[in-house]
Amino acid sequence: MSEAAGGIVTPVSAALAASAAELDDVLARAHIPTLLMSLVHLTGETRWLEPPYTPQRPRGSQDHDDGGLSPEALEDVLRAARDALLGWRTEGRRTSVPAREVLVRMMSVCVGESVADEYVEMACEEIGLTDRDATWSPRRTVGRREEVEVLIVGAGFSGLCMAIKLERARIPYRILEKNPELGGTWLENAYPGCAVDSPSHLYQFSFEQQADWPRYYSRRADIRAYLEHCARKYGVLENITFGTAVLDAAWDEEDARWVVRTRAGDGVVEELTARVFVPAVGQLNRPALPDIPGMDDFDGRAAHTALWPDDLDVAGLRVAVIGTGASAMQLVPAIAGVAAHVTVFQRSPQWAVPNADLGREVSPEVQWLLANVPFYSGWFRFRQFWLWNDNVWPTLQIDPDWPDQHRSINPQNEQHRRFLTRHMQERLAAAPELLEHCVPDYPPYGKRMLMDAGWYDALVRDDVALETGTIERINAGGVRTADGTDHAFDVLVYATGFHARRLIWPMEVRGREGRTLRELWGDDDATAHLGITVPGFPNLFTLYGPNTNLGHGGSVVFHAELQVRYVMGMLRAMLDRDLEAVEVRQDVHDDYVRRVDEAHDRMIWSHEGAKNWYRNAAGRVVTNSPWRLVDYWSMTRRPDLAEYHVRTAPAAAPDAG
Ligand code: NAP
Repeated sequence: MSEAAGGIVTPVSAALAASAAELDDVLARAHIPTLLMSLVHLTGETRWLEPPYTPQRPRGSQDHDDGGLSPEALEDVLRAARDALLGWRTEGRRTSVPAREVLVRMMSVCVGESVADEYVEMACEEIGLTDRDATWSPRRTVGRREEVEVLIVGAGFSGLCMAIKLERARIPYRILEKNPELGGTWLENAYPGCAVDSPSHLYQFSFEQQADWPRYYSRRADIRAYLEHCARKYGVLENITFGTAVLDAAWDEEDARWVVRTRAGDGVVEELTARVFVPAVGQLNRPALPDIPGMDDFDGRAAHTALWPDDLDVAGLRVAVIGTGASAMQLVPAIAGVAAHVTVFQRSPQWAVPNADLGREVSPEVQWLLANVPFYSGWFRFRQFWLWNDNVWPTLQIDPDWPDQHRSINPQNEQHRRFLTRHMQERLAAAPELLEHCVPDYPPYGKRMLMDAGWYDALVRDDVALETGTIERINAGGVRTADGTDHAFDVLVYATGFHARRLIWPMEVRGREGRTLRELWGDDDATAHLGITVPGFPNLFTLYGPNTNLGHGGSVVFHAELQVRYVMGMLRAMLDRDLEAVEVRQDVHDDYVRRVDEAHDRMIWSHEGAKNWYRNAAGRVVTNSPWRLVDYWSMTRRPDLAEYHVRTAPAAAPDAG
């Protein structure tokens, strides 16, 4: 779909040359609240937004395909959709973007609850009705692009997104990637069961929406294939240097450039320079091993989940899994029944949401609808965007007057506790003695909320054991717990997470005054204006930087797009105004960090009972954003140069182009 003066042109899909009967068959599988929105676009009739066609609000994280409509209303919708599509297929059409008040009504009807006006622009970008890049449109950019060339570190979602937009703007760039292939976290995490727990149709770029995701929640291989496809389609593949790690980067004040030293697999150290430096290495990039005595003594095979060896097959083996985070919660159900026996070593229990869509495949009919019915995929995505939007955010605010703060932090959070506890009771019915070990003593969302991908079902199996005793040491044969018991294993898996708070580590980044990021941040206290820019580090833009991880909803892909848009806005300003350096003002940065910290003080992750990877040793939340998605969207929409010290490039030589 492309936006054009006076409307949106939607090409007629050849596949729509189906017969009425074939269309009826496929429409019978449609998601009705989504189809209703296509119908409004196709017919221009707003009666589809009135009773009896208004869907009910879905509950929890589950969706409902029929929208709760009566059989008669359902029949009307399906018949009208079929007729509209049969009419539509005969010619190409131009439709108008509906007026703002109609859009608000459409959005509200689609999700079955009132959507506030402030969400309209952001949602239109997600649906594909407007262009997220409009704020920095490359067409109007002037200036010498070759002078703002960009070095990106990392070919994961963020780095690729940055490269794709630079390619669009025809600004020279290179991605330096330490791995031999692209994909970032989705390349590195190869443990059995690895998948994403954000919906597939949301966990993708807004500008490259894929209709044929095989599952509602994608597995690792599908996400990697998608990223590969994006890199090829947008022509960035040849600009990636694989197998090359960045050792350090230093700002050269005189030349206003970054000098970056890299090391390739063959050990060769090379020096590159660039006007702009963009570390896009993510927060979950460096695996963290625990500090347990005797780890080197183990005779069997040991692996971290994020460093899973290609040849590690646990079939028929006795496996220990240390940790109960998101990685363990996927791994254990995947290897239970394959391994001879699995023992889970749990230091803290977790809250986990049930989700029937987790393993569900997307039917060919639904893929067809997503690919061929005009506006359908955009609105389908909007539904998920909304379900995973800011709804949870208010429930994460601590109510100081709420009693029993160790249980829950406000009435809705208490409801979440009860709902999740009921889920555990149901799943653990066959082994109720496990319940006391599985119900956390901290409020839901105190740690990252997990999804139950068969975790509790695995725990009740005869060939799976939950061990809650403290690990005293690791020895040649396995694990000794504090009660003196030796547990024998063939394989030890560390599902112990990442050095998430050590951002942009281990590379050394030296700024204008010679200080490094590490000296500034210490090991666990990174800060950046909007999570992107740091005083003293001109022309440095971090992606997925401090306080940008999402703990209440959304997808980090969405956040990456917002950060990339901000950077592109800045590059455009640099080009248009012939700036060679921009550096965020210290007071602007400090004020932002103060607001972040204040917002976090009211949020669950700062709760005294919550121990999570978001908070540093001093109790400050370093990784997560405290903002609603719509607030961060608005803060990052376009950079404000008044917040920056800027340095104009020396006048170009007369013969320069
Ligand atoms: P994690 O959430 O940090 O979990 C690490 C686990 O290891 C925790 O249970 C922790 O216990 C335990 N642990 C750490 N050190 C230990 C020690 N010395 N002794 C015993 N237990 C120890 O790591 P993760 O599971 O790899 O997940 C990290 C993040 O990656 C997730 O939160 C998520 O953002 C992302 N991720 C996402 C997906 C997905 O989309 N489905 C999948 C995997 C990962 P405590 O809780 O007591 O600290």
